[in-house]
Amino acid sequence: MSEQDLVLVLNCGSSSVKAAVMDVAEKEVLMSCLAEKVGNTDAFITFKINGEKHKHALTGSHDHVAAVMALLEQLKDLGLYDRVKAIGHRVVHGGERFTQSTVITPEVMRDIEACIVLAPLHNPAHILGIQAAQQAFPDLPQVAVFDTAFHQTMPPHAYHYAIPSTLYTRYGVRRYGAHGTSYRYVAQETAAFLKRDINEMSMVIAHLGNGASITAVKNGRSQDTSMGLTPLEGLVMGTRCGDIDPSIFSFLAANAKMSIEQITEMLNKESGLLGLSNLSNDCRMLEEAAANGHKGAELALDVFAYRLAKYVGGMMVACGSLDALVFTGGIGENSTMMREKVVNYLNVFGLILDHDANMEACFGTPGVISTADSKASVMVIPTNEELMIAQDTARLTGMHL
Ligand code: ADP
Repeated sequence: MSEQDLVLVLNCGSSSVKAAVMDVAEKEVLMSCLAEKVGNTDAFITFKINGEKHKHALTGSHDHVAAVMALLEQLKDLGLYDRVKAIGHRVVHGGERFTQSTVITPEVMRDIEACIVLAPLHNPAHILGIQAAQQAFPDLPQVAVFDTAFHQTMPPHAYHYAIPSTLYTRYGVRRYGAHGTSYRYVAQETAAFLKRDINEMSMVIAHLGNGASITAVKNGRSQDTSMGLTPLEGLVMGTRCGDIDPSIFSFLAANAKMSIEQITEMLNKESGLLGLSNLSNDCRMLEEAAANGHKGAELALDVFAYRLAKYVGGMMVACGSLDALVFTGGIGENSTMMREKVVNYLNVFGLILDHDANMEACFGTPGVISTADSKASVMVIPTNEELMIAQDTARLTGMHL
């Protein structure tokens, strides 16, 4: 094993801590872990080392500090502790304040706190995680990498809602987007794969995981994206509805006697593929069920594909031209069926799928999946948000690679 400096990447949720120790130069994860039920007495942490999983109870305070301390002990046991030179944190919301990744200072912490109103479930957990890491690794520089930052290049006509503008100026109601770290990584990789200059390319990238969104990237900059003030807007997702008529709120309040909280919960957790199919939020499972004649699964996949294809058309408008349509995320990287359905809708724009190439680009293999006469390249590029966070962290802390 080389003796390269390492970056610790942390992604802290309210009851979870996800971590990866990365060798940035080799683009390699040396160890990863996931702490679950953080904050509860039955909290536990699972380490993945050399492909093997080891599960331990989280003792002591059972909180984010306990999780990060358990990680620190594991790093010492593995002889990696002294090689970790910086920590990179995933932060969901950076509002309009953060347009790029940044070294964490007391002022940056205050600004992340100020964004809590925009991400009330996520930013408080990130703050706990950053504080825990500062306590456990007081001498290491820490970097925040924001999901929203990449989309701060969107022009006003793309990020404004057509509602009274005072709601924007007073409360910050606008479109912020998400998955920015993934888009930045995939845009770079797409250009590199095609051996082209990212600054002279128009791409539409669809990040399709449990959460799903699509972004127009022109000359390396986000022009528009499908998620909005929150991740609920846009595409059909695993359990989120994506775009709906906002009047559904008052309609359901009046007719189904549902509260705002109940409707919000239903739209976020019981809708999307799950709600349409009445079966599952999992695309792979729905594909199997549809193949066996399950009508709900078929409908769910059809609505997902149709909405996505319509959005590709919209994002082409945002780019003004198209060099590459790129699929990424668990569904984008693996579902040959979903890619086929979507690209078939896009024949109208001259995009044509190469059936064999589509079947080959799966399970982490990138590739061009369109025919030579397709008007633009259709591609599969696996995402790697952790590597992007680690690369930013190494760059911003002047790490010697
Ligand atoms: P997350 O947003 O949680 O990171 P992922 O990017 O891992 O999610 O994507 C999860 C989705 O990818 C699930 O809907 C899963 O069914 C889908 N998926 C993974 N592998 C396949 C496959 N071979 N075929 C179809 N869908 C797949």
